[in-house]
Amino acid sequence: MDDCIFCKIVKGEIPSKKIYEDEKVLAFHDISPAAPVHILIIPKKHIDSAIALKEEDQPELWAVFAAVAKVAKLAGVEQDGFRLVTNVGKNGGQSVKHLHFHMLGGKKYGENFG
Ligand code: 5GP
Ligand code: ZN
Repeated sequence: MDDCIFCKIVKGEIPSKKIYEDEKVLAFHDISPAAPVHILIIPKKHIDSAIALKEEDQPELWAVFAAVAKVAKLAGVEQDGFRLVTNVGKNGGQSVKHLHFHMLGGKKYGENFG
């Protein structure tokens, strides 16, 4: 997608602080962190959101989740844990229309979701 910020980050057209990369996945620090550790984990392939996933996207989704443990280790949050969030649409607060998972750590979250 030409006008997608995260596709541009994947292509290196916009710089990012990468923490992990493989053939299908990129993880980088959020530009405006909402937690001491705030990393975005994305498929390199453009997928609009969690409700735009197609059966053919299974390898992308698997690769993202397979990367979670590796990213957590690299970010130093595997022991204490973290929250993994994906926002969808207007009410979900999705501002970038490229599927991404927020890894939020370095602080303790309560049981409520606000
Ligand atoms: P959303 O609101 O769509 O769930 O999350 C989008 C996230 O992307 C936000 O937390 C925002 O701070 C982050 N973001 C937006 N533009 C950029 C950028 O150019 N670089 C990085 N690293 N993060 C970005
Ligand atoms: Zn994109």
